[in-house]
Amino acid sequence: MAKKRILTGDRPTGPLHLGHLVGSLQNRVALQNEGNEVFIIISDFQYLTDRLETTDIEQNTTALLLDYLAWGIDPKKSTIFIQSHVPALAELFVYFSMLVSVSRAQQNPTVKEEVRATAKGKMSLGMLSFPVSQAADILAFDADLVPVGEDQLPHVEQTREIARTFNNLYGETFREPKALLSKMPRLMGLDAKQKMSKSRGNAVFLSDSKDVVLKKIQSAVTDSGKDIVYDLEKKPAVSNLLMMYHLFSGKEIADIEKMYEGKGYAEFKSDLAETVNAYLDPIRARRAELAKDTAYLSSVLTEGTERAVEVSEKVLRRARTAMRYDYPSLFH
Ligand code: ATP
Ligand code: MG
Repeated sequence: MAKKRILTGDRPTGPLHLGHLVGSLQNRVALQNEGNEVFIIISDFQYLTDRLETTDIEQNTTALLLDYLAWGIDPKKSTIFIQSHVPALAELFVYFSMLVSVSRAQQNPTVKEEVRATAKGKMSLGMLSFPVSQAADILAFDADLVPVGEDQLPHVEQTREIARTFNNLYGETFREPKALLSKMPRLMGLDAKQKMSKSRGNAVFLSDSKDVVLKKIQSAVTDSGKDIVYDLEKKPAVSNLLMMYHLFSGKEIADIEKMYEGKGYAEFKSDLAETVNAYLDPIRARRAELAKDTAYLSSVLTEGTERAVEVSEKVLRRARTAMRYDYPSLFH
């Protein structure tokens, strides 16, 4: 397979959770190890879409960085960078925002859901337009593939539309990227009501201690009745826990159901916590080691961001030329 360009990332709103691992991170590591060129954006513009208090931004960024490195992102092969420090992204956002009507932006179902879930019904202009900002992130790196969870599909579709509109207006400039979904594109949270999410108090974080994992899983929502069976309609909460058990043990769901015939939720949950802990444990030590080396962490971010600036500037210049915004007879 020809080498592909990949763009993917996370908001620095907290550390990564189990949903990220199975929804995107494992795909990123696999793509990196197959020799593709992976760019990982820490989307600090997007951080502001549903909150303005920024005291935890640096700590959250470090947490993301540690999660990436501990789970196998190799900065020699992949580029990790900070969105706000790559100027081409802001400029492309300005151009792209002219190509999207307000009514088109308002149709985005994920934006509506985010507003409901975290922004308490209030929608800023930045929140409304963040899929356009995300289009700038993706197109600025000539990405072929965007490994994402299901909630991001409308944004990738919006990106493709923007690329087409721009290309039709100004000539072939941008590559149309494709979303890459994992086998588990939407892991539900421990509340069983919404997707597992950094900001909705329903996540098991990859960096949680053993005790915290146990406590969180013990207090996960279950359904009425006692049976431990996979039935998304009648038993959505238990089905989600069974899915987690399957993902982190490798056992088939039917076999897990058999193992817990006649047994109670308490035993099932404590075994699930043990399974998740066994999966996370080897990485905990690596993460703790990495956390000590602050000079290394800072070099990863600095070098990654420099490289991202370099790559995106070239694409930006291409866009300016297409738009005649390079003013060839005026600028040298
Ligand atoms: P926040 O609640 O702060 O928005 P988040 O958990 O939604 O955090 P993001 O940083 O917004 O995480 O998303 C990063 C990537 O992880 C995106 O590609 C998203 O689709 C994917 N992702 C997030 N949550 C899940 C989930 N529960 N299952 C699968 N993929 C997910
Ligand atoms: Mg999110």
